[in-house]
Amino acid sequence: GAASRPLLSLRNVNMTFGGVKALKNVSFEVLPGEVHCLAGENGSGKSTLIKVITGVYKPEAGAVIDYDGQSYSHMSPVTAQASGIQVIWQDLALFPEMTVAENIAFQTVIGRWPRLVSYAEMRRVAINALQRLGVTFDVDLALHHFPIAQRQIVAIARALVGEAKLVFMDEPTASLTQSETDYLLDIVRNLSASGVAVVFVSHRLAEVLEISSRVTVLRDGALVGVYPTKGLTQSRITELMTGKTFDYS
Ligand code: ADP
Ligand code: MG
Repeated sequence: GAASRPLLSLRNVNMTFGGVKALKNVSFEVLPGEVHCLAGENGSGKSTLIKVITGVYKPEAGAVIDYDGQSYSHMSPVTAQASGIQVIWQDLALFPEMTVAENIAFQTVIGRWPRLVSYAEMRRVAINALQRLGVTFDVDLALHHFPIAQRQIVAIARALVGEAKLVFMDEPTASLTQSETDYLLDIVRNLSASGVAVVFVSHRLAEVLEISSRVTVLRDGALVGVYPTKGLTQSRITELMTGKTFDYS
């Protein structure tokens, strides 16, 4: 049915750096509004896959990218962004000296009304996006007053303002404490409940099990498989990621 038609579907994705095959004929699929985890050991190709989808890298010939009813041989960053694909990069690409409102709304508001950007308008847009995520911030404070977990939320709110349908988060919890991680996972749930699909990259398996509905596992640049999270355990994911079977007796 329409509800289960993928928002994004990739096939035959190959990517080589020098002699390294970073992606070997990978397929990947995301359903509308789902939280989908991408798991794999360091160097398994997770970030490269995200960069192919978001137009940072062009895959080798033969790749097929179906997204939101359109077919592409590759994405450009401009096409990806314009069609609702947003990435929360690890460095967040935010402006510490600007206010929360400006960080959330500036890029998009200025893109729409290049000559007419009032702070009041940015404020309204920013507060709206934060409300959708279920949080309230003092949007007039400069961003550097906020801890990293809250800056992540600001980056997510900015993606929402950019009319995101699909948000990629590459290791978003790497520098968060446990309570900050719990806070971020709540926001990701709100994002998904509002209809935005999230691809969540993490090697912390407890949070993978907690947040996702499905998990795609990569090993050495190749697809191992796609699994419903229900029924997975941390040790099973580890086996899939490493290709090794562990004896726990
Ligand atoms: P992951 O995100 O799963 O840790 P990556 O996608 O970053 O893995 O990397 C996959 C493989 O591709 C690794 O062997 C990595 O060294 C290599 N690689 C990634 N990006 C580049 C690059 N820009 N130039 C050369 N090699 C790269
Ligand atoms: Mg990576």
